[in-house]
Amino acid sequence: MANKMRVAQVAGPGKPFEIVERPIPEPPPGWVRIKVHACGVCHSDSLTKEGYWPGIQYPRVPGHEVIGTVDAVGKGVSQWQAGQRAGVGWHGGNCGYCDNCRRGNFFACTVDLKITGISFGGGYAEYMVAPAIALARVPDELSPVDGAPLMCAGITTFNALRNSGARPGDLVAVLGLGGLGHLGVQYAARMGFRTVGIARGKDKEPLARELGAFHYIDSQAQDPGAELTKLGGARVILATVTAGDAMSAVQAGLGPRGTLVVIGAAQSMQVSPLLLIAGMREIKGWYSGTAIDSQDTLAFSVLKGVRSMNEVYPLERVAEAYERMMSGKARFRVVLTMAG
Ligand SMILES: [Zn+2]
Ligand SMILES: [Zn+2]
Repeated sequence: MANKMRVAQVAGPGKPFEIVERPIPEPPPGWVRIKVHACGVCHSDSLTKEGYWPGIQYPRVPGHEVIGTVDAVGKGVSQWQAGQRAGVGWHGGNCGYCDNCRRGNFFACTVDLKITGISFGGGYAEYMVAPAIALARVPDELSPVDGAPLMCAGITTFNALRNSGARPGDLVAVLGLGGLGHLGVQYAARMGFRTVGIARGKDKEPLARELGAFHYIDSQAQDPGAELTKLGGARVILATVTAGDAMSAVQAGLGPRGTLVVIGAAQSMQVSPLLLIAGMREIKGWYSGTAIDSQDTLAFSVLKGVRSMNEVYPLERVAEAYERMMSGKARFRVVLTMAG
């Protein structure tokens, strides 16, 4: 069926994935249709799958780590044309005129904040439509599978680090060596930071060094705060884990004016006010970024050879791919590919 496509949709909160046929959508004015080649499976897709996002409507197709090719553009779209490669990430658009948008805080848009795979159908599909503002250019050097995880895990770590205040030569630690952390170490090392990897167990040390860390701290055998202090104290610690106690354990390793940048969605963490006060330290969160940040991430990744390690599944095996991602055992990101 030439005008039909297959998508992996969720019919309601907590419902299983189902592969269904739908008509290929026409892009509305200001939107672009993309033929999807690959889409990463991110932990945040559980917001769609399990119904944790307030107000989400079903059926919904998840997926916000999309790499594909533009194959039709809606009215008024002048910057994209059919045949161009494009990526779509978490940030699916914003109004552009509310006070937060006017201050450049697009992530806090109060009028029309769009999240790919939540506000509109995402990339677990052969085709999708997205607002033109949500598209990033994809360098030719990047395959769809290589590019997909960079559209969320990549941009989040890259953008958090480049906005962290750390400068080349500064001591920067990456807590966790999973889907986010294994990219974080690569970006930190290639940005010129003295990069330290922190994870549980001695067995992760070769990986950390291979990714670019000059030093490794085994948080099971050593006190990461004390070890970082011995190295002079971290200018930045990028916390990629989802365990609050692991985050709490590293804060003592921040140097004066050091910043703990949190990108792992832990339930809670302990903070020492005295530590913050005495060292003028800070803790801040970072969300991924907009399409131009994704575009910068892809370009930097090509320039410096940053790649995600991926486990690849065809769209039909979406349920298995999702379970694998949720198990936390994937090394390190899970990616869906579309046939044809
Ligand atoms: Zn994500
Ligand atoms: Zn707005």
